[in-house]
Amino acid sequence: MKRLTTAVLLIVWWAVGLLSATEKPSPETLLLKDFHPRSIYKIPQTEVAKARYRAIDMHAHVYAKTPEQVDRWVRVMDEHGIAKVIVLTMATGTQFDELTALYSKYPDRFELWCGFDYTGYDKPGFGPAAVQELQRCFDAGARGVGELGDKGKGLFYCRPTKAWGMHLDDPRMDGLLEKCAELKMPINIHVADPYWMYEPMDARNDGLMNAYTWRLDNQPGIVGHAGMIDILERAVKRYPRTTFIACHFANCSYDLSRLGKLFDECPNLYADISARYAETAAIPRFTARFYETYQDRLVYGTDMTFSAALYRLTFRILESADEHFYDWDHFSYHWPLHGLALSDPVLEKVYRTNALRILHK
Ligand SMILES: [Zn+2]
Repeated sequence: MKRLTTAVLLIVWWAVGLLSATEKPSPETLLLKDFHPRSIYKIPQTEVAKARYRAIDMHAHVYAKTPEQVDRWVRVMDEHGIAKVIVLTMATGTQFDELTALYSKYPDRFELWCGFDYTGYDKPGFGPAAVQELQRCFDAGARGVGELGDKGKGLFYCRPTKAWGMHLDDPRMDGLLEKCAELKMPINIHVADPYWMYEPMDARNDGLMNAYTWRLDNQPGIVGHAGMIDILERAVKRYPRTTFIACHFANCSYDLSRLGKLFDECPNLYADISARYAETAAIPRFTARFYETYQDRLVYGTDMTFSAALYRLTFRILESADEHFYDWDHFSYHWPLHGLALSDPVLEKVYRTNALRILHK
């Protein structure tokens, strides 16, 4: 009898579980994170399988970790018209050397950039050893530096040492930034984060789904968004012979005019467009005008693995005039995307020509 009761209970438990798994939440209880609408408009949808011009992806990381994966990446590049990828390793020392070996089969397809070695940055005498390691990485094949990163607490992207409390405009960085000019090594740097991350996490925050994941509003004492852009500006102006690439539109997608002002004043500054497609495709006309105005200063990049779907999505946003589409596989903002319909001359510069000008000859 007891065994029978247990069996009945198990069946009931299983049935209830099945019901609740298939039950759709009511609009009254649907969570914002589960809101994934589909566009119902019957309007053109463009497939862009290949970049209009042989593209250089200026912002990737070590996505391929075995020789087989490197081979696969090259096949995906070939299929999508990607001529070359800049792999921002952030690494120094033996770690950088191992990565160089891993990608060495395709010297024309991959360019590896190194990090800075901040070891001892908080002790007197920091500088010469870091510069020496930079020279060593250059000799081993590094042709640029990146991705450096500072979200307000200091430079923390490079390995093995994070330089909490030291920003790009710190005098301790002098030797390294000067050496980059001498070696013609451009620097890719991430400053701040999109503006929604600094806003209160409430019903008024337009980018809440993403902002909450990467929130900075709850970290007292960090340098704020405006302060981080000022730090970038001071460093870029102090080293006019050094080339800087502020990645992700310098995280100024909410106010591209701030980046435009930097471009106007600093001829040694570029920006990559990686990982800010959703942020800029929300305001396609303003963004397209920005590309038009600063067509000599923006470079193509992805920063989100190397899948076919990702490359095609970036082409669609840059090249097509499609309106009101979503891509929940890559983006979590709730707004629809819109193609920028950039002109051919702009596309050629952004995909290719600007990068060729920056890259070490
Ligand atoms: Zn990155």
